[in-house]
Amino acid sequence: MDVTHDDWVRRARNLVLPGAHLVDGAEHDGGGGAFPVISPRDGQVLAHVADGGAAEVDLAVAAARKAFDSGPWPRLAPAERGRVLLRIAELIEERRPELALTVSLEMGKPITDAHDIELRALINTFRWYGELADKLTDESPHTAPDALALVTREPAGVVGAVVPWNFPLTLAGWKIAPALAAGCTVVLKPSENSPLSALHLGRIATEAGLPAGVLNVVNGDGPVAGQALGLHPDVDVLAFTGSTAVGRHFLRYAADSNLKRVWLELGGKSPNIVFPDAPDLEKAAATAAWGIFFNQGEMCTAPSRLLVHSAIAERVTEAVVERARTLRVGDPLDPATEMGALVGQAHLDRVLGHIQAGVDAGVRLRTGGERILPETGGFYLRPTVFDQVVPGSRPAREEIFGPVLSVLTFDDLDEAVTLANATEYGLAAGLWTSDLSTAHQVSRALRAGTVWVNCYEEGDLTVPFGGMKQSGNGRDKSVHALEKYTELKTTWIQL
Ligand code: NAD
Repeated sequence: MDVTHDDWVRRARNLVLPGAHLVDGAEHDGGGGAFPVISPRDGQVLAHVADGGAAEVDLAVAAARKAFDSGPWPRLAPAERGRVLLRIAELIEERRPELALTVSLEMGKPITDAHDIELRALINTFRWYGELADKLTDESPHTAPDALALVTREPAGVVGAVVPWNFPLTLAGWKIAPALAAGCTVVLKPSENSPLSALHLGRIATEAGLPAGVLNVVNGDGPVAGQALGLHPDVDVLAFTGSTAVGRHFLRYAADSNLKRVWLELGGKSPNIVFPDAPDLEKAAATAAWGIFFNQGEMCTAPSRLLVHSAIAERVTEAVVERARTLRVGDPLDPATEMGALVGQAHLDRVLGHIQAGVDAGVRLRTGGERILPETGGFYLRPTVFDQVVPGSRPAREEIFGPVLSVLTFDDLDEAVTLANATEYGLAAGLWTSDLSTAHQVSRALRAGTVWVNCYEEGDLTVPFGGMKQSGNGRDKSVHALEKYTELKTTWIQL
């Protein structure tokens, strides 16, 4: 997009931001007061949004329940549902710059990434599930000759979707689009850090012709509004993306209420393994650096552990450190910015605490480690690289969710695999080799939902995404996402 820094700043000043919840197709202010949304770009208040609690969640769930139990949406021909999703994709495309600007302002990612990556993913998601809606078939297994068996997929009901702030629109879309395609109705609870883009998306969906109550958006604090949704007896499915710690809460909420199905996309501490026969070591190093600093390192899949063979460790680490030193960190609204601001003061303090813990554990700080640009009022951190990280230490195990890389070394394939699997997480992994057998052997041995070979963060809507171990269960994206939002029914007809 050909928009200058000054243009984005001007557009930001004139941006009209929504603040009310969306309940039953209408704006709803609720009675819970309002909370400020702070922009990480400069620490200034961007807007105030309605603060939802149990009462607002009740209203939204009641609307979604009515829309599911007696409304048209689950009873429409799937092709009709698909048309509405395609219309949502068109409207998002029309409003792409203002949505990208909202995301960039509320959570601090560079405007170019918001526009080119986050919004592209969102549009593709609604298109893909819109096109998929009427391409699905049920089963009729070959069973006894005197019987006809039908195995049909039915919409699972009211879906509560609770999402984080790092990809506020893409991750909301990964829940909403397949749930709607399946015929479910949804209550979305965005992160308190990034409610503005979600509220905007809700309004677009209504404008695109989604019937009232099919998609509701309630803002509010996690332990208040998120908990109310998790405990609600009329929610059939809870689809969550966020930290492993909060994922545990959702399993408890389900156990303490109606045993709703809980789908979890959680944290990660992903390994990125570089073997000495990598086809292109420069590319491996550049991708390792891009992977950990992209989106300020606020990526569940961030390749935050670089496992590199000791014979090439210094060469690869030096190339990553060089990239870290030259990365352009600054105003998210500047199209030339490569890394923006961390989401907030509390998160910046958390990441700095992790860095201090690394230093205390005796790892070597090769570059970064400190806050920069404090005069802006924003929350900027210098890209950080640790090496000589000891297996089992905190920087080798804990998710930091910031632009902080831990480098570890290995001497053979078995050691690489053991190190790679030595965390509680199992979200993603990368490996770099020219050897076909190494690629397949290591990929099979890695306990991770996605393995990238000679690349990182690649993919499209056709492939599922999700975690093993404590990185979660179930899968977003692809046809498999529909498994979360449908129930299988067997009908046995005696002939
Ligand atoms: P978080 O778990 O703090 O919050 C996520 C959501 O849960 C927010 O909407 C929040 O309001 C809500 N919440 C918080 N506490 C709650 C509670 N007690 N009860 C109910 N709801 C509650 O996570 P975050 O800081 O927003 O995001 C960062 C985390 O998300 C990281 O761990 C990251 O790895 C993970 N993440 C995972 C994926 C994935 O697909 N696996 C993608 C992106 C982010």
